Amino acid sequence: MLIVPEKEIANLMTREAAFDAVEQVFAAMASGDAYNFPVVREAIGHEDALYGFKGGFDRAGLTLGLKAGGYWPNNLEKRGLINHQSTIFLFDPDTGKTKAMVGGNLLTALRTAAASSVSIKHLARKDAKVIGMIGAGHQAKFQLRAALEQREFEKVIGWNLHPEMLPNLEEVAREAGLPFEAVELDGMKEADVIISITSSFDAILKADQVAPGTHIACMGTDTKGKQEVDPQLLVKADVFTDEVAQSISIGEAQHAVAQGLISEAEVAQVGAVINGTNPGRTSDQQITLFDGTGVGLQDLAVAASVVDLAVDQGIAIEVDF
Ligand code: NAD
Repeated sequence: MLIVPEKEIANLMTREAAFDAVEQVFAAMASGDAYNFPVVREAIGHEDALYGFKGGFDRAGLTLGLKAGGYWPNNLEKRGLINHQSTIFLFDPDTGKTKAMVGGNLLTALRTAAASSVSIKHLARKDAKVIGMIGAGHQAKFQLRAALEQREFEKVIGWNLHPEMLPNLEEVAREAGLPFEAVELDGMKEADVIISITSSFDAILKADQVAPGTHIACMGTDTKGKQEVDPQLLVKADVFTDEVAQSISIGEAQHAVAQGLISEAEVAQVGAVINGTNPGRTSDQQITLFDGTGVGLQDLAVAASVVDLAVDQGIAIEVDF
């Protein structure tokens, strides 16, 4: 068995490798070659932690495994550890033997950023110039860095419930040599691409605050009850997702579907656009919305990729197990 510790991931994994891994696995999901297992998520009644498993099997990439982990809200204050903790386990699909154990914390941010980035590549207008960010926390920086590589953006605008966090976005914009402007939510009308990545439980962005032709990636809603945008925006938009079952139950589409505003059949897999079986964006006026709920196969795909890189570079630790 190979071990790739968390501390090695930053030097091994690139945004490009994460992007390729996630794009390929979304395509495999849409063509029926890869599927996710039902998600287990439990409040374990200890340290207020939420713990669970996200797994799946990619028959095309021969990746089998799971991510185990969750959220320990007291970690930072009590122990100086980050609150999100996860580990990815890969198994040999021919034998069931354990193949690798990989630190999953940084990989989670990279695979989540890769997902919105894949949606921007396939659904945003080619001439997109302004990117708007809603949310300025830990994930937002990864999201913005990856998104900026997809189009020739000229400006970053941002809104956050807690404005003191906006310098996080400004820092990433500066790294890319772009101007940053803090805006009110109405200011999002200027954006050609919007990413929302918050832990909100109420709609933040209203349907009339999004201009025609915009691509929006809703990345924060990954649990029942969470919400970032007005359900009417999903009525106006063509809706795409990583996995339909998650989108309508724990993703942004849960609200529009529960209210009878859209049906499950109106939510398409982004993988179908990658495979060319769904036309995706067909006009410059269309609003496209990607509901990124986060699937186990994304974790497995980036973990498999990082194991290959670790082996190539002689960094993987081999254990007789
Ligand atoms: P964080 O704690 O670092 O940042 C939270 C962000 O949400 C901040 O911008 C904060 O100002 C904002 N926020 C908090 N409460 C809010 C409210 N009531 N209304 C509006 N904004 C609010 O968290 P993070 O690690 O950046 O994660 C952000 C979200 O992304 C979380 O909901 C997390 O569960 C989700 N997430 C999704 C995926 C996925 O695959 N889709 C993966 C990882 C994380």
